[in-house]
Amino acid sequence: MMKKLKPETISKYYEDHFPLQRFTSLIDKTDFHNREFGFVVGEDRFVRNISFHKPKDMLDFMIKNSVKHAYVGAVYETPPSKEFPIQKIKWKYREFIFDIDIDEYDAYNEDGEYVGVRTCGCKGDIFCKDCWSLVQDAAVFIDKTMKEDFGFKNIIWFYSGRRGVHAWILDEITRDFDQPQRLAILDYLTFVHDKKRTQSIEEIPNEAKPLRNRIYALVAKSYLEKSFLPSLLNPVNPLLQCKKCNSKMKAYEIISEAIGKEVKGMSFDKIESSLKEYQIKCPYCHGEDLENYSRNELEEELNKLNEFGLTENKAKKILRRIKEIDNFDHNQYNILVPENTKLRKYFSNQILLYRYPRIDRKVTMDTRRVSRMPFSVHGKTGQIAIDITKNIRDFYPDSAPQVQDYF
Ligand SMILES: [Zn+2]
Ligand SMILES: [Zn+2]
Repeated sequence: MMKKLKPETISKYYEDHFPLQRFTSLIDKTDFHNREFGFVVGEDRFVRNISFHKPKDMLDFMIKNSVKHAYVGAVYETPPSKEFPIQKIKWKYREFIFDIDIDEYDAYNEDGEYVGVRTCGCKGDIFCKDCWSLVQDAAVFIDKTMKEDFGFKNIIWFYSGRRGVHAWILDEITRDFDQPQRLAILDYLTFVHDKKRTQSIEEIPNEAKPLRNRIYALVAKSYLEKSFLPSLLNPVNPLLQCKKCNSKMKAYEIISEAIGKEVKGMSFDKIESSLKEYQIKCPYCHGEDLENYSRNELEEELNKLNEFGLTENKAKKILRRIKEIDNFDHNQYNILVPENTKLRKYFSNQILLYRYPRIDRKVTMDTRRVSRMPFSVHGKTGQIAIDITKNIRDFYPDSAPQVQDYF
């Protein structure tokens, strides 16, 4: 649980621990006075169109106002201010930034039912090690694509302080990109456009062959290893569904509450026998018919695979084999996955749907946007937006320091 975040603590962090030099080394110092900043001050007031003469003035402002959130914007021809807001002055440049948030992987249908791809039961701001791997995978994928397909070299990754990560591409050429240029790179990377994400890997144009190969090497591997059967065979959070009101709920939570002690890691059989033994009811409608939704889901999936000629045993063999292969790539995929057109088509959809990076397009496209300031405090979690470049593959948010940890 987070200790209460006091304004004095935030000020003290900025005064004693904020790495001002490191921050200014990311941005071009010669134009510092023409750069826009934004802050959340007081209770929840968001102010932008602010600029400072020099970095020290910015830091003094942050200390004095105990800013809950700090954001960096673009550089303009003249200093942004209340009198001369960014709409009225000429844009000069902005870093090229990618934003990946875990809740991008959620979706809801018209009835408000969850139809996202997190198979662990988390949604919104809630995440676990299981679904956070989507963010880790996306970061690795984007990092490689930017370096190998576009030749960018200087990419720094930051934790956003709450539910995602940001990439700052600092190669000088990128900061002058206008919106159409940013959009072109984004489109190359996110050819998945329709809301239902029904595209398949085969639809990727020939010009994007490196991207296609990377999808087999990274995304397909993750899918087979983490999302496909593993999430159904050993769900992190098995779900129950009420036959009467259709609500879904986490099995361990419901059972723990009913028997008055925490349970975890039960087999499907044990879950079902516990429901009977303790006569567990639906917490929403008090109906007594709770079904093992996760088991039903697994059976449905196995039936589908059977239709495509993949037996349960063969599928499990693929799972075992994939863990042993280093340097997984397109060829390995072709050897591993049986040559059944329907099965391949199904996988090719599922891989993109479940594991392909989901990028907040607005952040990358919008050249006038303000983005969270590296090394600043996130006012909701109290966590610091630290540099995670060296460990994007393994970074998990609970290792990021909280501002209270400094005192
Ligand atoms: Zn999760
Ligand atoms: Zn119910």
